[in-house]
Amino acid sequence: MVQNMPIEQIRSIMEVLQSSLDAYLFILDMTSEVYYIPEKLTERVALDSTRVENCMEALKAIVYPSDYAMLAEDIARCASGEQDKHDLEYRWLGRDNRVIWINCQGAVITDADGHRLLVGRVSELGRQAKADNVTGLRRETRFRLDVEEILRDRPESIRYCMRVGIDNFKEINEKDGTEAGDLILYELSKCITDTVVEEVSVYRLVADEFMLIDTGSGMVEQPAEIYNQIKTKIEKVIKGKDYSGFYTISAGILNRDFAGKSSEDIMKLSEFALNEAKRKGKNQLAFFEQKDYDQYLKHLDIRKEIRRDISNQFAGFEVYYQPIVEAGSYRIIGAEALLRWQSKKYGSVSPAVMIPIMEESGLIIPIGRYVLWEAAKMCKKWKKIIPEFHVNVNLSYVQVHKSDLMNDVSACMQEVGISPDSLVLELTESGSIETDNRIQKLLQDLKDSRINLAIDDFGTGYSNMRYLKEIQAKTVKLDRSFVLQALKNDYDYMIITHLIDMIHSLGSTVCMEGIEYDHELEKMKSTKPDMIQGYLFGRPSPAEVFETFLLENGKNGQ
Ligand code: C2E
Ligand code: MG
Ligand code: MG
Repeated sequence: MVQNMPIEQIRSIMEVLQSSLDAYLFILDMTSEVYYIPEKLTERVALDSTRVENCMEALKAIVYPSDYAMLAEDIARCASGEQDKHDLEYRWLGRDNRVIWINCQGAVITDADGHRLLVGRVSELGRQAKADNVTGLRRETRFRLDVEEILRDRPESIRYCMRVGIDNFKEINEKDGTEAGDLILYELSKCITDTVVEEVSVYRLVADEFMLIDTGSGMVEQPAEIYNQIKTKIEKVIKGKDYSGFYTISAGILNRDFAGKSSEDIMKLSEFALNEAKRKGKNQLAFFEQKDYDQYLKHLDIRKEIRRDISNQFAGFEVYYQPIVEAGSYRIIGAEALLRWQSKKYGSVSPAVMIPIMEESGLIIPIGRYVLWEAAKMCKKWKKIIPEFHVNVNLSYVQVHKSDLMNDVSACMQEVGISPDSLVLELTESGSIETDNRIQKLLQDLKDSRINLAIDDFGTGYSNMRYLKEIQAKTVKLDRSFVLQALKNDYDYMIITHLIDMIHSLGSTVCMEGIEYDHELEKMKSTKPDMIQGYLFGRPSPAEVFETFLLENGKNGQ
């Protein structure tokens, strides 16, 4: 219909249509090389007038450099009559110098003067959620489509998929604003695209993540090398621009067994590998390992089982008690409450496996309350047999940080009806005790409420005498591994002897853990601990068994 119309008339029609459109309508007069564009496009890209002369030259200013040749070639074909349709996805540069992914479609017509015109529209793909206007890269949906096709037709051609993420991106956004976040994303995308060869496709996934997929047939580029190059580039950019923060990147890499996988699998497994890199301390890469992933899936399943049993009134959970005896008399003066879980699916799961899972998921909070209440109730009962009896309950740092622990402890003591000296809370030694405000607050609250604290597993990690002095724990529990060392060699034996002396001089008592045999007791008793806990005096056992044991032996010692 517009065929053979004067160009002014075509422009008027397009102006009317333009006002109701999100896309940009254009006429490219290929005969006189004039480009007619709508007003709003002059705001978006560096073209200053709605009538652009010498347009092929002018386009160089707004088309992404490496896409220009492809565009010029396509337009030449339209101009020469080789084709009468134009349909390209390529990149522009916006006035803010950011990449804009566009789709340009048009048809060739002839006007009243016999000029060949390309008439069409340009849509920003970002507005259609296909490409991302912060980085100019294609997005996750596109990655999924592309990778599905490759997985279907030639999975063996994939050399690696690498998922790159900015460490602590949330913090950058929160601290420096989303503008700063966007800028880092943009810089990183540039570092990535500058590093990789053409056969590597790069996509922007959600938030701060990028996906690289190499299906090249040329030189094998080691993904680790690529990662290091990107890392070096972004570090330079950050230094060069004098950004206030220090931003690092991590990567997860899949480099084999693509056959039979779906795009969903690639997304899941690469996310797992990236999380592994972050979990190991960030600023590094991790290769996907099937055995780690299987272990992770098992942990997820265990977590599901734990959650189900918790909501089923703690079915399968039980608190065991292990005697703590007074050194010398060997009278039972207390017990440590130790959690046990009999899973329907996995049988008896050791605390070494389940406690970290509970901590990571926060489930340790309800479980910790359960142990505290059970232990307090039993303590009240057993105080009738041994008046000075106390129960030790292990605390996790997750409870300290993510729950109102003092409130739970006070409520428990009050409702069960036990006094503060009946309860010892055990906290594993850790370097953060000194510096962490929440822990400091808890220690103060415990002091104010006259609840005793024991430093657990002393000798396995931080083992700092200075904080022992500051904390003024009632008791320091020497870990079994430390005791074993002392049993094996004279040097450690001497250290333990002095250490116990020092702890005493700070006003704390010592509980020696893990004594299993008579000869161990014989040797270690001369180091003068105040209390002993170990298989020799009783294994952790269910409340009824422990109670019988208390009734038989408790009063008279061994
Ligand atoms: P822990 O607090 O140091 O508890 C002492 C551990 O040493 C217990 O292991 C106990 O069974 C073991 N043990 C005691 N005497 C001997 C001995 O003579 N020889 C040997 N080989 N081992 C001995 P268990 O019950 O497996 O608990 C392991 C860890 O799990 C505990 O170490 C504690 O850190 C944690 N845990 C257990 N129950 C709870 C709980 O209710 N809450 C929290 N947060 N952690 C808990
Ligand atoms: Mg303990
Ligand atoms: Mg311990």
